[in-house]
Amino acid sequence: MSRFDLHSHSTCSDGLLKPGELVARAAQRGVTTLALTDHDEVSGLVEARAAAEQQGMVLIDGVEISVTWNGHTLHVVGLHIDPENHELAAGLNQVRSGRRRRAEAMAASLEQAGIAGSLEGARARASNPELVSRTHFARFLVERGYARDLQSVFRKYLTGDKPGHVPHQWASLEQAVGWIKVSGGMPVLAHPGRYKLDNAQCGALLTQFKDLGGAGVEVVTGSHTAQQFATWGRHARHYGLLASAGSDFHGPGESYRDLGELPALPNGCVPIWGQF
Ligand code: AMP
Ligand code: MN
Ligand code: MN
Ligand code: MN
Repeated sequence: MSRFDLHSHSTCSDGLLKPGELVARAAQRGVTTLALTDHDEVSGLVEARAAAEQQGMVLIDGVEISVTWNGHTLHVVGLHIDPENHELAAGLNQVRSGRRRRAEAMAASLEQAGIAGSLEGARARASNPELVSRTHFARFLVERGYARDLQSVFRKYLTGDKPGHVPHQWASLEQAVGWIKVSGGMPVLAHPGRYKLDNAQCGALLTQFKDLGGAGVEVVTGSHTAQQFATWGRHARHYGLLASAGSDFHGPGESYRDLGELPALPNGCVPIWGQF
């Protein structure tokens, strides 16, 4: 039986395992096709591919691009991208360079709330200096005892009007979809149930995403409930989008679902891996 996991992270972004370790864990847990989809970064794919060849597993070259759409932060996964494509690489480089400024502003905001040293703390926890994410700040804050776990850190800090949150402009939806497509990849709207959008906004997003050339939507993802599997399965069918499935695994004990733990797609969904 084939088992697909089309969304995962390594230490090249905010995951806890190196690309090779991630691939080995996926293979051990019965995944037969894994996509490595680091945030705004493709540098882990070479090591992941070598490990996948050793394990006899299929690796899909992927990426997860940060997007600002109508004031909301969204994530668009690209599957089967060409990591060597110059337009994609230039786009990702531009997105990563914004992260440096944001990290400095986040640290200044935490400092005002009485928390010193968070920029150094986050950087020390990021293996990739170009990819300091909120997750690295969150791990620093948990280790220093400011919150119990990652979930509560994001409730108390780093979101909304809480200390450590700074507004940021990521790529546009058009850019992210365009970069993925120009490199030969399939754009997939990541974990749609996490966005705070009303029905009209959801409809507008899916219509625009499809018009721009979006290929699929994550119906099954670690952070969706069983009810959301059904809801997003219906939306995928309604908008003519393929259905994807990915754990969004970041590390042992840190993620909603581990590698290889995903349920099947709801009936009636057309799986994106039919196109691979
Ligand atoms: P960034 O792209 O730097 O804004 O960081 C976003 C990352 O933060 C996501 O990819 C998740 O890994 C993590 N994250 C966001 N919200 C939460 C949450 N409530 N609990 C745990 N991790 C979260
Ligand atoms: Mn992440
Ligand atoms: Mn995401
Ligand atoms: Mn992710």
